[in-house]
Amino acid sequence: MAEFDILHISDTMGLNKASIMTQTSDVVVVGGGIIGLAVAYYLAREQVQVTLVERGEVGREASWAAAGYLSYQGGSSEPGPRLDLLRQSRLMYDGWIEELQEFTAADTGFWYCGLLELCLNDAEASEMQARLAWQQAAGFNIDWLSAEAVRQRQPHLAPDLPVQGGLLLPDVAQVRPPRLLKALTEAVIRQGVRVREHTPVTMITCDHDRVTGVTLGNGETIATPIVINAAGSWAAQLGPAMSRLPVKPIKGTIVLLETSMPPTRELLDSSQGALYPRPDNKVLLGATLVRCGV
Ligand SMILES: Cc1cc2nc3c(=O)[nH]c(=O)nc-3n(C[C@H](O)[C@H](O)[C@H](O)COP(=O)(O)OP(=O)(O)OC[C@H]3O[C@@H](n4cnc5c(N)ncnc54)[C@H](O)[C@@H]3O)c2cc1C
Repeated sequence: MAEFDILHISDTMGLNKASIMTQTSDVVVVGGGIIGLAVAYYLAREQVQVTLVERGEVGREASWAAAGYLSYQGGSSEPGPRLDLLRQSRLMYDGWIEELQEFTAADTGFWYCGLLELCLNDAEASEMQARLAWQQAAGFNIDWLSAEAVRQRQPHLAPDLPVQGGLLLPDVAQVRPPRLLKALTEAVIRQGVRVREHTPVTMITCDHDRVTGVTLGNGETIATPIVINAAGSWAAQLGPAMSRLPVKPIKGTIVLLETSMPPTRELLDSSQGALYPRPDNKVLLGATLVRCGV
């Protein structure tokens, strides 16, 4: 991150609380993951003065670890406002990636890989058939493949895998998260966002029902009428008022393998695990899902 103009103000600077100035900002974004950075980017684009405060380094937590697979058509999707939001967000990606290229030459690794979701039992077959029907009716790009067609398309699947068919989702794309985060961080800074790393927010301050600012780990405060809580898994820990947020941290682990030639070019997903090949011939396997805490 050395090439970026990021402020590194740590708690160990020996600042005495009385000498710490209160700054002001139109908006304070707490958390420098993909969500916080993207929100800061769009606000700054609209000429809003934004300070983004990150307790560690930007883009190093969940957003860095993610496989980078971009889809809205999975089994947890159902018609409604959440799906509309997911779809709209996915459809904005192409333009967004192009826009980021105006700020940085960094390659985000965005590509259309497509996804084949394997159907391995009767329960999955009925869920997938139902999803196929309503998504096709809604005009989404989705197809059903028979077991035979899946085996022809993916000849390396284990012979004893009980494949009953599969859903083909050609619009699924993938990014390389660390690269996207690097490009986005550069864009955010060029848009004039003040990015402060190694600066934990310890509290969101309020006066009655109005937000007044944030308190930082070194005792400093930033006065602002708007705080965007983008602290990801830690969002509910930003003080008592946030503790009611329904955030449930889930820990996931993925493994990156080097191959000379991945067994597939499209993403393969199933209830027994997922395989994400990358254009550089590396393959991600995963992810585990472990509910942890709160
Ligand atoms: C192994 C794995 C694979 C995944 N694969 C995919 C995938 O393929 N596709 C997909 O869409 N999603 C995937 N995800 C999920 C995706 O990574 C997350 O949904 C997304 O990154 C969340 O972004 P975020 O900005 O909310 O969180 P984060 O990236 O975790 O950012 C939150 C930030 O807030 C900061 N913060 C916390 N508390 C404070 C504080 N008090 N003060 C200041 N800063 C604070 C943290 O340090 C952190 O940088 C995956 C996740 C994992 C773990």
